[in-house]
Amino acid sequence: MEPMTTTDPSPRRYRCNACGNLTRFDVTSTVRTRAYHHYAVSGDLSIEDAEVLAEEIEDVSCRWCGNGSAVVELEAGGEAIDTSDQRPPEPRAD
Ligand SMILES: [Zn+2]
Repeated sequence: MEPMTTTDPSPRRYRCNACGNLTRFDVTSTVRTRAYHHYAVSGDLSIEDAEVLAEEIEDVSCRWCGNGSAVVELEAGGEAIDTSDQRPPEPRAD
């Protein structure tokens, strides 16, 4: 796992090696944040300046396969992903 020094929710990319899915995953994560809760006099709340203190991805499952056994995380800026002409197979159900 990466050290939790991020202050930004880093966008992660995944790929299911079983079916080629690049776009649909169930991601279970724990995110610890600190944010400025700004209440209006009426009681309405607006949350501002949200800062991610820690983020842990616990589980990633492929929506098509229904499990995460073949899901791998793609490193940002590492492997080139061209989703424009790389289409996953037809989903069985959606
Ligand atoms: Zn899959």
